[in-house]
Amino acid sequence: MADSAPVDCRKASQLLSAASERELTPGERQALGVHLERCLKCRNFESQLAFLREASRRFAK
Ligand SMILES: [Zn+2]
Repeated sequence: MADSAPVDCRKASQLLSAASERELTPGERQALGVHLERCLKCRNFESQLAFLREASRRFAK
């Protein structure tokens, strides 16, 4: 599988979730970035995840 293969929404959401558990490869980050630039739905999903991460971090304190 090529690292820089274009991602669809399904793959993008997988990568966004994976990013909280592991470091994404440069190829994955780039492909995800390209997708997010074009896809409002996945940008919304990304900010939701960021919000949840922030909330759980505060909660854990
Ligand atoms: Zn998308």
